[in-house]
Parts: sequence; structure tokens; C-alpha cells
Amino acid sequence: MDRISVIVPCYNEQEAIPIFYEEIRKTAEELKQKAELQILFVNDGSKDRSLDEMKKLAAQDTRVKYVSFSRNFGKEAAMYAGLSYAEGDYVALMDVDLQDPPSLLPEMYRIITEEPYDCVATRRVNRKGEPPIRSFFARRFYAMMHRLSKTEIVDGARDYRLMTRQFVDELLRLGEYNRFSKGLFGWVGFETKWLEYENVERSAGETKWSFWKLLIYSIDGIVGFSTAPLAIAAFLGVFFCLVAFLALCFIIIRTLLFGDPVSGWPSMTCIIIFIGGIQLFCIGILGEYLAKTYMETKHRPIFICKETNLTKSGKETA
Ligand code: UDP
Ligand code: MG
Repeated sequence: MDRISVIVPCYNEQEAIPIFYEEIRKTAEELKQKAELQILFVNDGSKDRSLDEMKKLAAQDTRVKYVSFSRNFGKEAAMYAGLSYAEGDYVALMDVDLQDPPSLLPEMYRIITEEPYDCVATRRVNRKGEPPIRSFFARRFYAMMHRLSKTEIVDGARDYRLMTRQFVDELLRLGEYNRFSKGLFGWVGFETKWLEYENVERSAGETKWSFWKLLIYSIDGIVGFSTAPLAIAAFLGVFFCLVAFLALCFIIIRTLLFGDPVSGWPSMTCIIIFIGGIQLFCIGILGEYLAKTYMETKHRPIFICKETNLTKSGKETA
């Protein structure tokens, strides 16, 4: 019988965990004939009673496992930890807030076992219930990624997916510190089947993503999967040299024809400020790549596990 590990990252989710468990139990019941589940909660340094909830469930049900971090390392680190601890032949990633409906899992399992796919992933067809500005910027981000990066990053893709052991092992080889899973999934390749579903609202608790967090995450995505911004910086440099050359020709000719009345200092100031801004912007782009490189060279672990009820140990770095 196949074993499916379901990885569930949790950060301050004390209300959502019991609700999630009830749902996943029903799914496990449905799959009983074909596969058994391992439910692997990753406690990402929650400050509430999430870990107690996990321990309570683990005491009742031996299928429930948990890995608890020493502090909050972020969802990306939690997913990596889950993947590295998971023991199943197939591995699923799922949010605890039921925005990734567990009821889709049997269908995903059927597809991955019967059809020639290595991964069954999900995407939302709409962003119902999300603030409109957030949707707008999300759409712009995906459109930009599509142009800037060769790696396929699908609009509306959730992290909710079921993967084969081979797919997971390959993912684990990508041990980078700055993780952007939506890109990593695409980078490893293999055959992925996309299932679509309508956006579901959170079962309990609140979203952990503020607009700023999302903005920083999107910059991580761009820097992690494209070096195009560096080329844009170089292009801007060449472009402004050309403009300056044309302006110089214009001024020389004008002076020869009409003499040289002293004027134009306000426009001069504007130009200096403008060029200064562009320069800082380009240095900023460089700095962003340098900072990422700096963090990578430290080879710090992606997460630190404080306690777990698993016997298998995970890999903190690849
Ligand atoms: N999460 C996490 N660490 C964090 C933030 C979030 O493990 O630092 C988990 C969270 O508990 C949830 C999942 O990631 O299971 C998705 O978070 P959320 O629902 O807040 O994001 P949204 O669905 O709004 O994108
Ligand atoms: Mg959510």
C-alpha cells in the first residue's frame, strides 16, 4: 500500500488545526483502501498553542507527526523541512486553513498513480474574496515573471500539490537559502498536471501575508529566477549615454547659431536629480543580487528543528 505524506506548515494556527484534522481524517477514510496518510505538521515557531494542538492530535492518532522549529523561519522553510522529513512514497503540500481543500487529494492521487504525471498541482481560477489591489499586483507580478524568467511560474498556482518521491528528492537537491518554491517546482521540470478550482476563504484565523511581505516575496521571486534586472540596469546606462550625446550635439549647434544666454538651470537641476535617481535605482538592483549572494555564501541552515516525534531526521541544508 502506498504511503502519502501530507505536509502542513502552521504559523499561529491554533484554531485552524483541529478543523483541518477533522477534514483530513475524512480524506484518509476515503483513501483507506489504496493509501495510508502521514500527516506532518510543521510548526513554524508559532507563538500561540499550535504546538500543543499538534501534540494532542499526535497522542490520539499515530498518523500525526510534527516538526517544531526553534523560531519562525517562514513558510518556504517550513515546506522545505516538511519535504526533507516526509517518509511517504508520495508527498502533498497543503495549507492548514482549508484554502487547499483536502477533498481534492483522492482525485490527485488517482491521477498521479494512473496517468503518466510526476506531480499534480492546483491553481485558483479566480481570486474571489481577495482585496482588489492585491489581485492587481499579483497579476502584474506573474505577467512580469513570464517575461523575465525562463522558468515557468503559473499565475494563480497554489503550493498545494501532490508529488512523487523522485520529484521530492530532486526538489531537496535545490538547497538554496533564498527559496521561492513556485519557481523551484517549475525549475525541476517533470510532467505536471494542473487542476483548477475556485478560491476558498480561510476556515479560521487570519492570513499571515501583509502587502509588504508579499512585495518582498515577489522581489525574492524575481531575483531568484531571473538576472534580467541586471541587464535592464546596463541597458538604462547605455540609453542615457545616448540621450546625453544627442543633447550635447543639440546644445553645441544651438550655441553656435544663437549665442549663449545663461539660462536653463532649473531644467539642469531636474536632469541631475533624475539621473541620480536612475543611478541609485541601478545600484539598488545590483545590491539586491549581492545581498542574495551574500546570504547564500553563509550556508546557514534553512531551518532549525527544536523537537519532533519523527524518528527520521531531516536535512537542514542540502
Ligand atoms: N505559514 C507558515 N509560516 C509563516 C506564514 C505562514 O508556516 O511564516 C503557513 C500558514 O500557517 C498557512 C500557510 O502557510 O498554513 C499559508 O498562509 P496564509 O493562509 O496566511 O497565506 P494565504 O493563504 O493568505 O496566502
Ligand atoms: Mg491561506
